[in-house]
Amino acid sequence: MQTGIKIRLFKAGFCTHPGFIVLPGSGIKPKKFPAGIALIEHPKAGYVLFDTGYHPDFHKSTRSFPERFYAMVTPCHLDHGENIAEQLQTLDIHHSAIKHLLLSHFHADHIAGLVDFPDATIHCHQAGLDYINTANRINRVRKGYLKNLVPEKANQQFSFFDSFTIDIANILDLKEQIGLYAQDWFHDQSLYVVNLPGHAAGHIGLLIRLENSFVFLLADACWLKDSLAKHIDQHWIANILSDDHHAYKDTLQKLRRCYELCDDSVKFVPSHCEETIANLMAKGWMS
Ligand SMILES: [Zn+2]
Repeated sequence: MQTGIKIRLFKAGFCTHPGFIVLPGSGIKPKKFPAGIALIEHPKAGYVLFDTGYHPDFHKSTRSFPERFYAMVTPCHLDHGENIAEQLQTLDIHHSAIKHLLLSHFHADHIAGLVDFPDATIHCHQAGLDYINTANRINRVRKGYLKNLVPEKANQQFSFFDSFTIDIANILDLKEQIGLYAQDWFHDQSLYVVNLPGHAAGHIGLLIRLENSFVFLLADACWLKDSLAKHIDQHWIANILSDDHHAYKDTLQKLRRCYELCDDSVKFVPSHCEETIANLMAKGWMS
């Protein structure tokens, strides 16, 4: 099916964790987890950005306690010129050309670059914004949120997804229902926002139809592709971060079933899977 959609992946910085956190048995040697981002070009809606990655503001927001704990537990690395607005500029895409920005959830490594896109409509699940606005400061930090990364002005930019009614099996033409539900964002069967509850409040992904294939941006529904392919579970310490661990496990089981039923034409993309992100970045624009 012709959709006219193009997609390109980026990474804007990375954090490090001991390997065993996401891959039990892999020791304490720090492992890199890139902050993956996708830029989608839609024939009518223009440029759509999926998440924003790290940004120098992350360091500013974590100078004092308790926020400083976040940066100590999850050290962030971002080289000069590596934040997403700067990377887009090298492709001659000015930040004002980004009309739509989708936030998969409000963890700091997904929203830090928000400040650079004052002209975009910010699309998200309302539960994510509600959490960051209402949780107390300690709980926010404990769960991986830095409220200062949502600029005051951004409150006029938000738009919310609220109707997830299509089982993704019907989009991917699978032989059984999956139990994960999506919304046809622009009503043209090209971009489907998928409710993926559990990891964080209002956590969502994006299923993108290309001409002969799909890209399924999973955000943090799992951290590594092997969590789906080889059923590897993250360490219990990582579960502490989860908004709702039972919902997280349920979403992961459904994604594993979906992965089993799909062929190679569906690319599953966890935001922090170095191998997956690097492979797809090397392809440049995909259509
Ligand atoms: Zn997250």
